[in-house]
Amino acid sequence: MPVIRSFMQVIADQAADETEASIDDLGGIVERCARSYSSSLADSQAKISQYRLKEKINQAQAGGEDIEKSLIDEVESWRDSRPAEISQEHSMRAANAIAKTVYIEAGRRTLVWVTMGSKSCAHCQSMDGRTVSTSKPFLAAGEDLKPEDAEPMTVSTTIGHPPLHGGCECMITAGE
Ligand SMILES: [Zn+2]
Repeated sequence: MPVIRSFMQVIADQAADETEASIDDLGGIVERCARSYSSSLADSQAKISQYRLKEKINQAQAGGEDIEKSLIDEVESWRDSRPAEISQEHSMRAANAIAKTVYIEAGRRTLVWVTMGSKSCAHCQSMDGRTVSTSKPFLAAGEDLKPEDAEPMTVSTTIGHPPLHGGCECMITAGE
């Protein structure tokens, strides 16, 4: 939580500078955003853990393996793999979440999707420059994204801001 808060503070300061609006109590806005972000992050990580453990139990049962041992191996493997996964995805997600909050506080009515990173995929490139009202998502759950030179992709959840997918480095910027 302190890490998310300090990280969000840096992004919030940049976003506030960008809009040139004077925002009352930016620190309080960051605090509330970091709190709600941390609790939903904890929830989603708990669900991912549960899901992965259930999968392991099923696999171990189906393969006649020792269930307890395969669960211990799974949890131990998380120590190496998950911190990097979580920090990559959630640094992008948290940055975009606080930037959106600040733009709305600054009175902006639209948000613009900006594709970043040299390795951005066709799906992200097709989002570049897309502008939406701050009250609307960029993509609704179930909506298709069909770039010319790639397979169509159906989004499973509402996309209110980047990332679009794991490894996505897109950002939003303030519109009007
Ligand atoms: Zn992207």
